[in-house]
Amino acid sequence: MKVLLVEDDKDLAAGLVKVLQTESFLVCHSARGSDAKSQFTQFQPDLVILDLGLPDIDGIQVLKYFRSQKKETPVLILTARDGLADKVNALDIGADDYLAKPFDLAELLARLRVMTRRLGTASSSKIQVGNVVLDIAAHALMVNGEAVRLPRKEYMVLKTLMEEAGRVKTKEMLENNLYEWGEEIGSNAIEVHISNLRKKLPEQFIKTIRGVGYTVSRNDNQ
Ligand code: CA
Repeated sequence: MKVLLVEDDKDLAAGLVKVLQTESFLVCHSARGSDAKSQFTQFQPDLVILDLGLPDIDGIQVLKYFRSQKKETPVLILTARDGLADKVNALDIGADDYLAKPFDLAELLARLRVMTRRLGTASSSKIQVGNVVLDIAAHALMVNGEAVRLPRKEYMVLKTLMEEAGRVKTKEMLENNLYEWGEEIGSNAIEVHISNLRKKLPEQFIKTIRGVGYTVSRNDNQ
């Protein structure tokens, strides 16, 4: 698995290269946006880790370039914690995931595993559980072959549950995920999103694990 790491912080980059190599990734590192653009074409990475604060070109412009070249290569964005507008912007342009600095290495590796798994299961970046298909590239939901409209927050909640089907997600985990993408969270937000989602999904698709959280089963026979 080839990873293009775009990060101008020398120490952080050196640490990340080491960890990624230990995890058997083949790593190409660029410290500048211009290098990243040429490496993207030459190295043909399977995944990209992109810092938005680069010395020469705005990371958002680099992301736009990647998307104009190869739409499906998953991109994980790194940025400063206060870069709220950047996060939303990056999501709109088609970043697949986001981590705020400083981040935990274990968390980064977990996110990469999710991205890798998605690559392995479907080249079209679709997640399917039973008759429910979530198209990550198109941000679209299909239930029993019919397109269903999803507001962004509901999409984010469902994506998290389906990506990690078989695992229980606590309300806090789902909230944190929304929060990282720069969404405002009301006190009953997750309950409301889950309740809205259930109206659009097959019965018992999202299960409540009492006192713990929510889960989507790996397949539809329970
Ligand atoms: Ca930087």
